[in-house]
Amino acid sequence: MTRFVLVGGGVATAATATGLREAGFDGDIVLVADEPHLPYERPPLSKEVLAGTYGRAEFQVNPENWYADNNIELMLGTRALTLDPGERRVNLDGGGSLAYDALVLATGVRARTLPGFTGERVHALRSIADSERLGERLAPGSHLVILGGGFIGCEVAAIAVARGVRVTVFDPNPIPLARALGPEIGGAMIDIHREHGVVVRTGEVITEMTETRSGVAVRTGGGELIECDELLVGIGSVPNTELAAEAGLDVDGGIVTDEYGRTSAPNVYAIGDVAARFHPAHGRRIRVEHHDTARRHGANVARNLLGASEPFTEEHWFWSHQYQHNLQSLGHYTGEGRHVIRGSVDERSFSVFSLEDGRIRSIVALDRPRDVMQARKVMAVPHEVTEEQLADEEFQLKSLLPQKAGARRSEVRR
Ligand code: NAP
Repeated sequence: MTRFVLVGGGVATAATATGLREAGFDGDIVLVADEPHLPYERPPLSKEVLAGTYGRAEFQVNPENWYADNNIELMLGTRALTLDPGERRVNLDGGGSLAYDALVLATGVRARTLPGFTGERVHALRSIADSERLGERLAPGSHLVILGGGFIGCEVAAIAVARGVRVTVFDPNPIPLARALGPEIGGAMIDIHREHGVVVRTGEVITEMTETRSGVAVRTGGGELIECDELLVGIGSVPNTELAAEAGLDVDGGIVTDEYGRTSAPNVYAIGDVAARFHPAHGRRIRVEHHDTARRHGANVARNLLGASEPFTEEHWFWSHQYQHNLQSLGHYTGEGRHVIRGSVDERSFSVFSLEDGRIRSIVALDRPRDVMQARKVMAVPHEVTEEQLADEEFQLKSLLPQKAGARRSEVRR
C-alpha cells in the first residue's frame, strides 16, 4: 500500500489530502501536525477570530468527520523531529517514526521575534491560541502598541479600534504596506487607519521594552517612553526550514523546490509558505506567504504525487479586509515596470496595474474587486494593452480577452 505523509497542519496539506482522495487515491495518507487542532484557515485569525465573530468550527478547513470519512490518519500535536530521506522515514517527537513513499513538507512559517520582547502582555499572531489570547486582552479603553505596520499590524489595528482599543503602530518604513501593495494603496491604507484613530508612527521603531506592574513600557528609537497595556509584535515571519535543512535538503530562504514542488531529495515535496519554488514565468524562485497560494499549491502537488507533471504556475492572489475596505493583489507585485492607475485615488476606489512589454503583470486594488476579477482572466491569456487603455475607465478590460467565434462574425457583419 502506498503511503503519503504530509507534515504541517494548514490549508496546504489539507488541500493535498483532499486532492488525493478526490482523484481516487486509496492508499494511506498520514497528516502530522504539531498544533493540536484540525487543519484550519489562518486569515480569520487577524480578523473574525479576533473580533469574536468566528468560533473554531467556522474556520476549520474540513469538519472533523471528513478525515475519518476519507480515511486520513491524523497525528495532531505531533512534531516531525527529523527526516531521513535515504530511508524514506520521518522521526516523530515522542519516539515513533513513519515510513513514506512520498513526503510533503508544509512546515509553514513562524512569527519573527525580537530578543528581549517576551512576557505575559507581549503577543505574536500566528496560531489560534495567539489570536484567542490577544482577543481576550482587547479591552475597551486599553492601549495596544503594535510593532510592524504590515498585514498583521494593520488588520489587528482595524479590529482593535473597532473594539474601542487605543492603538499605536510603529513601523520603520515611510509607508508600511508599500512593499507589498505599492506606495499609492499602501499610503491610502495608512491614511484610512489614521482617520479611524490609529496612531501610525512611521519611520520609527521600538528599541526596548519592560513589563510594569500594570502593563508594558516601550522606548522608541528617539528615547520616548510609552506605556501600553498590551504589545503585539507583527514584524514578519521566518520560514520553518530546520527539518529540511538538517536532513540535507537544499534550503535558500525557504525549502527549495522546482516548479513541480519537488525538493532536492527524492520523493520529498515542499508546498505553501515554506516553499521557495521555481516559477517559470518569473524565471526565478519565489516564496509566497498567502493562503490562496498555499491551497492551490497543495492541490497541485496532489496531482503530481499521482503521476502528473504539472508545473505550479499560478499567479498569486491575496486579499485583506480593513474596516469596510477590500484590498486585493493579483500577480507578483515587485514595484518594477510601468504603473498605471485606474479609478479614483481621491475616492479611494482604484487599482494599480504593473505593465511590462504591454502585458499586465500585477494588479493591486482598493475596493475594486471587479478590476481584479477581469484582470485575472486577461492575465491568463496572451494580450497587449496600453497605459492609456488601462487608465481609461471607459475601456473594457474584458475586451482584451480573445473574442468568441460568434462575436467575431457579428462584428464583421456590422
Ligand atoms: P509583514 O506584512 O511582512 O509586515 C511586517 C512589517 O513590520 C514590515 O513593514 C516590516 O518592515 C516591519 N518591521 C520589521 N521590523 C520591525 C521592527 N523591529 N519594529 C517595527 N516594525 C518592524 O509581516 P506580518 O504583518 O508580520 O505578517 C506575517 C505574514 O503573514 C506576512 O507574510 C503576511 O503577508 C502574512 N499575512 C497576510 C495577510 C493577508 O494576506 N491578508 C494577513 C495577515 C498576515 P520591513 O519590511 O522593512 O522589515
